[in-house]
Amino acid sequence: MNLKSRLEASLAPGQLRLLHLAADAASQSGLPLYIIGGSVRDLILGSAIQDLDLTVEGDAIALARALAKRHGGRVTAHTKFGTAKWFLPKDLQTESSETLDLISARSETYKHPAALPTVKMGSMDDDIRRRDFTINTLAIRLDGDRFGELRDDLGGMDDLKQGIVRVLHAKSFMDDPTRMYRAVRYAERYGFKIAEETLTLIPQARPLIEKLSAQRIRHELDLILEEWNAAAMLARLAELDLLQPIHPALTFDESMRERLSHLHTYRGLQHLSPWNITRGEQMRPSDLGWLLWLMSLSQEQVSALNDRLHFTADLLASLFAVSKMYAAQSSFIGLKPSQCVERLESYPLAAVEAVGYAAKDPRVKECFDEYISKWRYIKPHLNGDDLKALGVEPGPRYAVILRRLRNAWLDGEVKTEAEEKALLKALLDPPPAST
Ligand code: ATP
Repeated sequence: MNLKSRLEASLAPGQLRLLHLAADAASQSGLPLYIIGGSVRDLILGSAIQDLDLTVEGDAIALARALAKRHGGRVTAHTKFGTAKWFLPKDLQTESSETLDLISARSETYKHPAALPTVKMGSMDDDIRRRDFTINTLAIRLDGDRFGELRDDLGGMDDLKQGIVRVLHAKSFMDDPTRMYRAVRYAERYGFKIAEETLTLIPQARPLIEKLSAQRIRHELDLILEEWNAAAMLARLAELDLLQPIHPALTFDESMRERLSHLHTYRGLQHLSPWNITRGEQMRPSDLGWLLWLMSLSQEQVSALNDRLHFTADLLASLFAVSKMYAAQSSFIGLKPSQCVERLESYPLAAVEAVGYAAKDPRVKECFDEYISKWRYIKPHLNGDDLKALGVEPGPRYAVILRRLRNAWLDGEVKTEAEEKALLKALLDPPPAST
């Protein structure tokens, strides 16, 4: 099968030009060059190729250096892994990328179950066999007149056509238990089935999950929480009993599913409305995913889970905050705007935003949503300089007065600058107390 025309149709002209330059350089050095893995899978499924990761059967670093010598730009290399990044000269940069990754074909072996692999330069055959699933083993040859030729050593095309996620060998999940999470992610993302024989390998690998480092398991969960249908993936993980072995506090129920549906709203907003982006306050969708998923946990559960997963400091602070706010939602009912602001200001913004999505009672929702979109920006017109000009002695009293003015704006007590000035005057010269 030749995918030349498919490649040409789906790559941007700049990407295609780059591919040909790399292919020419590889041919001249006599090195087979491939595009392999997720990009080929997505190309065949009809989606755009995001990253042009190229695999060379030979020395990728030497190839990258030859390209930079001929066309400009510079190269950084990881000699240990045989990988190189070519920082493209201006005229070769594309809209989607300023670099091109070149990787030497490698073999990966596992000293013991769940260990990190031992990586060695290897053949293309090794590189294909180190992979997680057959659908990720497809490769397209790029050098010479074989440009576009599909290499399908392990039946990846059949599985892709039939929608099957299948490991390459019976020890795959034991070697790397993160693959069980990847299997669920691909299956739910594409509406594929996990092959029966692959499912039967889960029980023997399940006890190895506890051996995975915090960073590795959290990375897989991050990837899941980046997906638009994260809820379906977590539900499937729960069904396959792959959440509790990470930590007993990790469960999945209907209310969690419902909360995670708000990831769609957030993604919609991210793409459609500039309000989140222009403020430079975007949070990673996976962080919002964690917050929506786990807000019903107690403080103690969050803390215990952190011992296993080592959340980033920001995410951990937000997880504690959502847990507190979610449990105390009813206490936000009937508050004046200034009272909402006062309480919410002490929490991380991401946490407030997450509870705003999840809150069901419209009175609670209003408090959170209005705070995020409007109230937190409201400031009095007058400032410290104005108070100084009016002869108010500098000191802690400034903050008290300015907060009082801000609250008056928030609660609609003042609506114009003149009204604000009048209020200030009343605050500075209170009417004499009647005797
Ligand atoms: P995605 O669309 O989720 O980014 P991808 O296939 O591009 O999918 P990457 O995580 O970028 O995924 O990995 C690139 C390739 O490396 C995969 O297609 C797969 O062949 C291989 N790979 C990644 N993780 C593993 C793993 N844990 N075990 C074996 N092979 C892996």
